[in-house]
Amino acid sequence: MSQENVLKKDVRDLTLEELSDYLVSIGEKPFRATQIFEWIYKKGAADFSAMRNLPQALRKKLAADLALGPLTVLKAEVALDETTKFLFEFRDRETVETVLIPTDTRTTICISTQAGCKFGCKFCASGIGGWSRNLDCSEIIGQILHVREHAKKHPFSHVVFMGTGEPLDNYENVLRTIRLLNSQKAMNIAARRITISTCGIIPQIRKLAQEGLQVELAVSLHGYNNDSRNILMPVNRRYKFDELIAACREYARKTGRQVTFEYILIRNVTCSEVAAKELARHLAGFECKMNLIPYNRVEEFEHEPPTKLEMLAFKTRLAELGVHATIRMPRGRDVGAACGQLRHQHKIANSV
Ligand code: SF4
Repeated sequence: MSQENVLKKDVRDLTLEELSDYLVSIGEKPFRATQIFEWIYKKGAADFSAMRNLPQALRKKLAADLALGPLTVLKAEVALDETTKFLFEFRDRETVETVLIPTDTRTTICISTQAGCKFGCKFCASGIGGWSRNLDCSEIIGQILHVREHAKKHPFSHVVFMGTGEPLDNYENVLRTIRLLNSQKAMNIAARRITISTCGIIPQIRKLAQEGLQVELAVSLHGYNNDSRNILMPVNRRYKFDELIAACREYARKTGRQVTFEYILIRNVTCSEVAAKELARHLAGFECKMNLIPYNRVEEFEHEPPTKLEMLAFKTRLAELGVHATIRMPRGRDVGAACGQLRHQHKIANSV
């Protein structure tokens, strides 16, 4: 990519209004913004020259002023269950992962929002190398546009912000992306098909509740009380377990949406009788969803996943105590589906 292109603003970082303002500033009609949006978000154009209903002079001017570069794919690995992992590289050589997950009932794209992660959860490969930077909106939505074009066999129905990084730590760009996903003039995906995952940044959960969006919120709980969560999730030292549950109850009340808790199952750590009782105590009377996710091995950590029997016993015990949970088996195991594994392996291979 030329140096000039590196410095240009990407058109996918602009809202429809901002693009329209830019067009007016260069003497064009604002309706051209809708045409450009259609080309990018509905027809998947990755080059201004493909926008055939725009005058040639405007296409040239757009290409001179704005970037619309495709993402570079370093790897695309397809698992036996057809889960596909993409490793993308950006202009500054930072990399992120995106995963396409087809199931019988839906196809989901799991996208990354930051290069690396600063929250260092003690089971997650994404946090191992630390945080490099936030992704721009164009880099986040670019992942979706690329996957849509290159995996046409599996048209996606849902988007989850659960890849590398903490979405609520890149709040403005994530919200910008959601508005583009949701906009009828752009990708037209219902907000209820979009899930934001967070490790528990309480002020941003409260802010999100005020946005008037119908997006789903998934909270990585991964601990059954304050002490147990402190061990696995350093973020809990700042945003405490009890306050997090209170913020989630408030989110559900304000938005009318059920909150989903993600809870990792680690042998002898998170799936004991004490864990079940504590979870039931803290979630009493809270109509929420609970996903139990068996730990997916990461070399750097010594944890072990429980056996299938142990998982089922924990789920049953929770149900007896009034917490109804679903076990979610990780998909794409043969291509390293644990969050951040592919990127981490790439970083290691390129640091020697
Ligand atoms: S689980 Fe999420 S917040 Fe925690 S280190 Fe991984 S990417 Fe970061």
